[in-house]
Order: sequence, then structure tokens, then C-alpha cells
Amino acid sequence: MLSIKDLHASIDGKEILKGLNLDIKPGEVHAIMGPNGAGKSTLGYVLSGRDGYEADSGTAQFNGADLFDLEVEERAQAGLFLAFQYPVEIPGVSNMEFMKESVNAIREKRGDDPLSASEFLKKAKEACKQVDLPLAFLKRGVNEGFSGGEKKRNEIMQMILLEPNLCILDESDSGLDVDALQVVANGVNSQRDGKRSFIVVTHYQRLLDYIEPDYVHILADGKIVKSGDASLAKEVEKTGYAWLGAKAEEAD
Ligand code: ADP
Ligand code: MG
Ligand code: MG
Repeated sequence: MLSIKDLHASIDGKEILKGLNLDIKPGEVHAIMGPNGAGKSTLGYVLSGRDGYEADSGTAQFNGADLFDLEVEERAQAGLFLAFQYPVEIPGVSNMEFMKESVNAIREKRGDDPLSASEFLKKAKEACKQVDLPLAFLKRGVNEGFSGGEKKRNEIMQMILLEPNLCILDESDSGLDVDALQVVANGVNSQRDGKRSFIVVTHYQRLLDYIEPDYVHILADGKIVKSGDASLAKEVEKTGYAWLGAKAEEAD
């Protein structure tokens, strides 16, 4: 599904990603952990095509296409979902209208008929229930005046409605309370199937108490330095990142 080879990326002339490799197959959940400043968020931004975050070299094949050749919207249409792409506030545009447009734009690209207003409403109501957001949130402006936890619920609702095939969730800096953490985890777990894949970026192990990853990777100083199964996250919880040595400590 996603194959990243020797990815290098710099910001303002400083190299942040220094030869990163990662392979993700359909249906897999990969957690990426690592010390502060290691480049975890940068990886998500480079994959999402955020302004100012471009790859210097290396490749990322996504479902057979070269991800870096695609525009941001094309990446979404190809089935990539990036959680941090959405918490922007768009006052005056209803949440419901915004999501319906996004969902139908993607359906059109896939050759599916657009959902009618009533079909979409039905799905949106179910999704609201799933993330425990009152229906009134569908009528409000996109993220307008939403609390942090409500934005998070809304984001997971978008993920559910968009039915992407690769979801990248960056939870490292969001300071989620336990309720919001469980919303994220339930959202991921309910959308897990044999085909949909996830990259869950997290600084702490606690999210992984609720999401059982297939693989855990430690990103330090711009590279994946260690990979393992869920037990690696438990190990990190106990030992911290000191074992990474001086280089990683510097980056922290
Ligand atoms: P992590 O998510 O692992 O904590 P980041 O990817 O956020 O790490 O940051 C990696 C490094 O890149 C840090 O040293 C950070 O200061 C730097 N960095 C990230 N974004 C910018 C930016 N917009 N301008 C300058 N430096 C940045
Ligand atoms: Mg950081
Ligand atoms: Mg980060």
C-alpha cells in the first residue's frame, strides 16, 4: 500500500528526515514513536504534502502511484487521510456541507455515484453516534468554537465518512484526555479491516493501550532505528529513549 524508500526532507535548510524507510501493507496498523523533535510530525506533513514540507530525495509509492507527484487533493482522492489536515476552522461553512462535498468529491473520483442529501445525512448521523458528538455539530461551522476534544471527535467522524485506505493520525502533541483518546482508538478500531491501513504517530505509549498495533517503529534523528511488535512500545514505556544514545538525546 505504502512503500517509503530512503526519504530525506529538510526544513529551512536543516535536514530533518535522513533516509527513512517504511513499508505498510493493506490492513496493517503501524505505530510510530520516538523522542521529541525526531521528525515524526514532519514525516506526516511530507506525506500529506503540507506547504513547506517537501521531500529532498527518496520515494513514496502509494497504491502504485508516486505520492510526491500528486497534489494534496489528489492524495486525498487516492485514499490518503491525514488527521491534522482538518482541524482548521471554517466559519460559515456547515460541518455537514463540508463533509458531504469532500465525500462526494472522492466518490466521484472513484467512479461511485454521489450520495444524496438524505443518504449522506443517514451516514453522518451514524458517524456522530459512533464518536459521541451531538447531531447539532453537523449544523455548526467547521470546527468553529469546537473544544479540543470536539475537534478530535469531528476529525475521527470525517475519517469514518471518507472511508480512506490509509489513515495517518498524529497524536503526539495534542494533549488528549482519556475520553478523547478512547474516541480516537474506537474510531481506528471500528475502521480496521483487512484492507484499511493506519499510521498512528504517538509520543507516549498510552494510546497503544487502546489500539493494538501490528508493528511499532522508533523514529529517532530522522530515521527508523528500531522496529518490532506491540511489545516494543511497552519496552519504551519502561526504558524511555535513553538507549538510543547520544544522538537521539541531542534531538530531544
Ligand atoms: P516530532 O514530531 O518527532 O516531535 P517534528 O517533526 O515536529 O518532530 O520536528 C522535527 C524537527 O524539525 C525539530 O527539530 C523541529 O524543530 C524542526 N521543525 C519542524 N517544523 C519546523 C518548521 N516549520 N520550521 C523549522 N523547524 C521545524
Ligand atoms: Mg514535536
Ligand atoms: Mg510531532
